[in-house]
Amino acid sequence: MKISDNIDLIDGTNANVYVIKTEKKIIQIDTGMKNNLERILNYYETNRTRPDIIFITHYHMDHIGTLSSLQGRFNPMVIASETEREYLEGRAVPEKPKSLLGKMVMTFSAKMNFQGISTCEKIEDENLQCVATPGHTPGSISLLMRRERVIFIGDAAATKDGELKTIGAFTLDPETAERSLEKIRALKPIKILPGHGDPLNLE
Ligand SMILES: [Zn+2]
Repeated sequence: MKISDNIDLIDGTNANVYVIKTEKKIIQIDTGMKNNLERILNYYETNRTRPDIIFITHYHMDHIGTLSSLQGRFNPMVIASETEREYLEGRAVPEKPKSLLGKMVMTFSAKMNFQGISTCEKIEDENLQCVATPGHTPGSISLLMRRERVIFIGDAAATKDGELKTIGAFTLDPETAERSLEKIRALKPIKILPGHGDPLNLE
């Protein structure tokens, strides 16, 4: 689905996978669940392109499911926060969510040992700014396109019925998550693109 001239949403993935086309680079936001691989590969095949950069908002399994496959196929630069890199590369073990549902899901997620994760300064694009939006996980980050005033927020909040709210069950620190949501609003984006739910147009 076309979100704007230079942003696509790859249809049918969970969580949402977005693709930004800048003048120089193709940047993918998050990677969906493992079984979303075919849809993602179809997108790149149809558009005759490939991701140069994959931006990971946070380590949850519905955001990193196809990452190792995509690394193997395209060898993109992978960007995450310092904190999340520790989890992704297996040097730190994420805290389990307090809710029963959250605990169950996390029990089934495999230990992570991704290699070669970079951090935000490597994006090297003045229009793109990483914004720390912790709470959902300690190292959750958002990506702001400054000129377009579009922000990709991962699970810092989700949209439902046109409203933006922090996520309940899987959020480790709800108070911090609320502050991050305020921070996102304070950036005055005109389009908010969440990991779950529809894009939210403001203004
Ligand atoms: Zn999440």
